[in-house]
Amino acid sequence: MSSLRRIYASIFKWAPASAAATVCQQLLGALVPAAVTVVSAGLFDHAAKAINGQADGTKLYLYAALYLIIYLINDILEYIFSIAVNAGIYEKGTAYFRMNLYEKVAKLPLLALEDPEVLNRKERADKAVQDESLSALFNGTLVFLRAPLTAVALAAVLARYSVWLLPLSLLSVLPYLVARLIRGKEFFHVRRAQAPETRRLAYLWSLFHTRQTAKEMRVAGFDGYLTGKWTATRDKVNEELWAVGKKDAISLLFCDLFRILGYGASIGLVLMLALRGQVTMGVFGASVTAFLSMQMTMKVFLQSLGRIPEQLGYAKDYYAFLDQKEEENGSTAYPGLQMDIRLEGVAFRYPGQTGYALSNLDLVIRKGEKVAVLGENGSGKTTLGRLLLGFYPPEEGEVFVDGVPVSHYDQTGFRRQASAVAQQFAVYNLSLRENVALSDTERLHADGDIMEALRQAGLEGIGGLDEPMGREFGGRELSGGQWQKLAIARGLFRPSSLILLDEPTAALDPLVETDILRSFIHAAQDKTAVIISHRVGLCKLVDRIVVMKDGRIAESGSHQELLAAGGEYARLYTAQEQWYR
Ligand code: ADP
Repeated sequence: MSSLRRIYASIFKWAPASAAATVCQQLLGALVPAAVTVVSAGLFDHAAKAINGQADGTKLYLYAALYLIIYLINDILEYIFSIAVNAGIYEKGTAYFRMNLYEKVAKLPLLALEDPEVLNRKERADKAVQDESLSALFNGTLVFLRAPLTAVALAAVLARYSVWLLPLSLLSVLPYLVARLIRGKEFFHVRRAQAPETRRLAYLWSLFHTRQTAKEMRVAGFDGYLTGKWTATRDKVNEELWAVGKKDAISLLFCDLFRILGYGASIGLVLMLALRGQVTMGVFGASVTAFLSMQMTMKVFLQSLGRIPEQLGYAKDYYAFLDQKEEENGSTAYPGLQMDIRLEGVAFRYPGQTGYALSNLDLVIRKGEKVAVLGENGSGKTTLGRLLLGFYPPEEGEVFVDGVPVSHYDQTGFRRQASAVAQQFAVYNLSLRENVALSDTERLHADGDIMEALRQAGLEGIGGLDEPMGREFGGRELSGGQWQKLAIARGLFRPSSLILLDEPTAALDPLVETDILRSFIHAAQDKTAVIISHRVGLCKLVDRIVVMKDGRIAESGSHQELLAAGGEYARLYTAQEQWYR
């Protein structure tokens, strides 16, 4: 129930006028059926009298006018409040619920985003927002207020005519409750279990959309295979949903039958009472409508009641995601690297994995040093880089920056002092200026610095700073290598004391790569730089080489030292030597 309380509190906070208006409308609307019953009974009775020539003309007109006024006011109120519900509860509410979700994602530890369990939870929270389940819960649970009020008011009116009218109209709608409760729950469980499949579906779908993959799959001819895989997954998901939907429809049909039977029986009973002269014809007419109102109220009430566990389940998922532990922030201010980064006995495992990506790792990187981290694919280079920057906490051991565990620093300040160019860097369809200065937007108009970063990355004269890049909006399309250089320029532009390059040049020709790295090392003269690579081209340019193997450091030293040692580095160097001639 606490999810419900949170939803109410949020909506009253975000859209107070709409929320209050909705509650008022529900309360007023609840009294309409009872009022209509009383007025229509009077109207019919006076009409009957008029037909029999015992007219009391004024009263007849009065009832007729009242009848119309009630309908008119009810309609106008419903119209106005439906706008309030749509604009306030649904649109505004959903926008805020969505915003909260994305703000939460930004506060999670980066490692949490590698955790499949967290990603599934996020998927379910996303679904709760997308389906507007949270706003629907606000609106839906208001029937708890409205329905009892309608029922009590109507019951009071009906009971005045005959007590028999009550149990019959109530009993005829009970089967709804049972069916929706069972089916509603089942429906939700299917969706919940489907989260990983729906995520896979969304991933496959994204492959068809992304230009790079769409092109590759066409050229290499595996588009048919992937389409097949997508279709199969979609069919599986849909089949499960349809199976539940079918059961749902059948049980609802069954419930409706019961309700109609109940309605028929009620009319029969009140007709009998009328024929016996126990109620007037006016009461008979009004009761027929009153039963219908009562049944409709109960139907809506029970249907909502049945749907609530399902929606509440989504709401719980949503709040379970919002309540996840956020990244802990240290309080120590970070002035930039002063001395060294020191890894002591570090071991690290990705969430859900049994094997260690890094183990038993000791390493010191001194201020101003240029270090190359070398090793084959999967040897743990990227993971090491992420730990160096404090992105992931080690499972064992500690990463000290200037003697202080990295987690003790204020993370925003710490990250401002670090710059990372990832292997899978992003491509921004923005201006050339923005592409460089995104890493320090305060200097968006520092043209001299932007040009310098471009020059250092080997992109001199590529175009005007305000020229749009990328084909998406009709800008200049760059080659893969040029995008990579742009990512490096962005990394260099950031005023950081530490810069990490994680193979952003891997797709370039080895000689071009060496050229760019040479210029990079020159540009990063005053910084501490860590360059991850699986090629040896840059090794003569750096102060030290660290060779990784199976999540450990195999060797460490200068080019000359390692070559002389005749170990892993010497083997890699000899194998790749011919690329650099
Ligand atoms: P490298 O950068 O040297 O290619 P990585 O640091 O990327 O190596 O990977 C080291 C090991 O960790 C590999 O065995 C890889 O499969 C595993 N790994 C990397 N990223 C993840 C992840 N997000 N989740 C689970 N395992 C991962």
